[in-house]
Amino acid sequence: MYRAKIRDCDRLYPVSKVVCVARNYAQHAAELNNPTTSEPTVFIKPNSSIIGEGEQVVIPAYSQQCHHEVELAVLIGKWGKHISQKQALKHVAGYGVGLDMTLRDTQQQLKDKGLPWEWAKAFDTSCPLSHFVPAREVADPQNLELKLWVNNELRQQGHTCYMLHSVAQLISYMSTAFTLKEGDVILTGTPAGVDQVHSGDRLRAEISQVTSLEVSMQ
Ligand code: ZN
Repeated sequence: MYRAKIRDCDRLYPVSKVVCVARNYAQHAAELNNPTTSEPTVFIKPNSSIIGEGEQVVIPAYSQQCHHEVELAVLIGKWGKHISQKQALKHVAGYGVGLDMTLRDTQQQLKDKGLPWEWAKAFDTSCPLSHFVPAREVADPQNLELKLWVNNELRQQGHTCYMLHSVAQLISYMSTAFTLKEGDVILTGTPAGVDQVHSGDRLRAEISQVTSLEVSMQ
């Protein structure tokens, strides 16, 4: 079972689930011709989808089109249900960077049929996560710059100030349906610039001056 790690902290956090949001940046929703909605669109990745620094993403045989999505990752440090927006950030233990690897061809087929997205989003290795930095070191999670390079070429550059639903709003909203436990991770959506990756590509994701992550494509 994958355990999340906070920098300079011996304690490990078993991740029971990764709760993700789609279409949380208007420019990214527009590039895929998706409408944005007043309520967040939520899905889950299981613990078995997570890999760590230096590991490899493996594209399942049924897909020909895997996309990168760089996202701010939030590690929950305190149990909560029906968490208020005001209290939400007190439930955060750390911040990191994650990749929501997505099989875009498979997802399109599922969307066309109105079916759930797990086959495109929750496969093994679909959730690379960095180590986390303590929440106290991040003054404002809505003031972070996200970047992603593929083979040293900058592909995605975004800023968390452009989230449609803030970290606090997401924690509050998600906790109405899902108890958020210590070790759960929230992926907060991707900015524009998603694109295809291929076998042998090297991906480097970064939250400027916070943390970074490198993985490669098998
Ligand atoms: Zn995503």
